[in-house]
Amino acid sequence: MEFSQYDVNSLMFVTNRPALVFTEGKGMMLTDHTGKRYHDWMQGWAVNCLGHSPQCMIDAATAQAKKVINPSPAFYNEPSIELASLLTQHSCFDRVFFANSGAEANEGAIKLARKWGKLNKNAAGENRYEFITFKDAFHGRTLATMSAAGKAGWDTMFAPQVPGFSKAVLNDIESVKALITDKTVAVMLEPVQGESGVIPVSREFMQQLRALTKERKLLLIVDEVQTGVGRTGALFAYQHYGIEPDIMTLGKGIGGGVPLAALLAKEEVACFEPGEQGGTYSGNPLTTAIGAAVFKEVVAPGFMESVKEKGDYLRDKLLQLSEQHGLQGERGEGLLRALKLGKDIGAQLVEEGRTLEPVGLLLNAPRPDLLRFMPALNVTHAEIDEMIDLLSGLIAKHV
Ligand SMILES: *Cc1c(COP(=O)(O)O)cnc(C)c1O
Repeated sequence: MEFSQYDVNSLMFVTNRPALVFTEGKGMMLTDHTGKRYHDWMQGWAVNCLGHSPQCMIDAATAQAKKVINPSPAFYNEPSIELASLLTQHSCFDRVFFANSGAEANEGAIKLARKWGKLNKNAAGENRYEFITFKDAFHGRTLATMSAAGKAGWDTMFAPQVPGFSKAVLNDIESVKALITDKTVAVMLEPVQGESGVIPVSREFMQQLRALTKERKLLLIVDEVQTGVGRTGALFAYQHYGIEPDIMTLGKGIGGGVPLAALLAKEEVACFEPGEQGGTYSGNPLTTAIGAAVFKEVVAPGFMESVKEKGDYLRDKLLQLSEQHGLQGERGEGLLRALKLGKDIGAQLVEEGRTLEPVGLLLNAPRPDLLRFMPALNVTHAEIDEMIDLLSGLIAKHV
């Protein structure tokens, strides 16, 4: 098929896309409409944690589609009960609400914290509803989550914002303290800021933040939409820090590629009452059956160890690459890593990678001077080597 035969103008224009239509995927590889293949180091933006179309997802989707696709959120269904139990068994949380996107899960977390702030008023007997979030943070694209974000320009893009979000500086506990008011109810952060360029929260800061929020009776909310479900080499990134948050949100990897997200809370914080939270597709059996199949693979014996080991392997390879070409090193956790290029060649490398022949390389540059790597969690050493070889060839042309 020729690209010109696709009537892409019927799609609302929200982003620049190359003149390619992707038709098939398997593991780390994607295929476009001309049959050209690509090494895919974006994986739907850290979404396909087991790669493209793994057998367990195909089986779960097929089996569940044959049974029942949507009995309605007014009734219990087996896959959502199973996945919720898996999540509570493997985390410090007691209750799960399923949503369809990371933004929606975060929106739910914001509502839950506001509800808790109504039940746990300040000394003057007033509701607490203000949040402290962080500069450069990303929490999704609904109005409240865009207001929670610290992305430059987002404060005025769809003004007025949802009020009640003040922005502290990541890894700076004094900046958080300075923003606490008698209306503050929660602090929300990504354990590794993903969209802003893979910036990990330090262990010291996370522990200080947990101590501070406990002392001031604030909730600690971790947005693990990008870091959760194995991405950072721990099942959940908060586990690296030796702390327990009050609320966690999941998205991306939890569905392995299908729209699924979750809001998890400790029992004492899970204070929604009937009528306050819901959603037509909340916990629908098709996506939760797929999510359960994915989750079982991720918690299978040896899987997380292999993610950690391959994260270290990728780190070492990126460091070698950096030394070889005089770049600025790398950073990240597990299989969420970034290469610091030292100059603004990110967009060119993305373009040159995609147009490589005969096999392309799909890369992501969240910042002009940075490449982000978010492979399938079951990526092989050979696939890492292959990417490094291709990337080395691309970078060589720029130094
Ligand atoms: C991707 C992302 C979101 C938004 O998830 P959507 O499914 O796109 O709504 C929220 N928070 C973080 C940290 C993310 O990386």
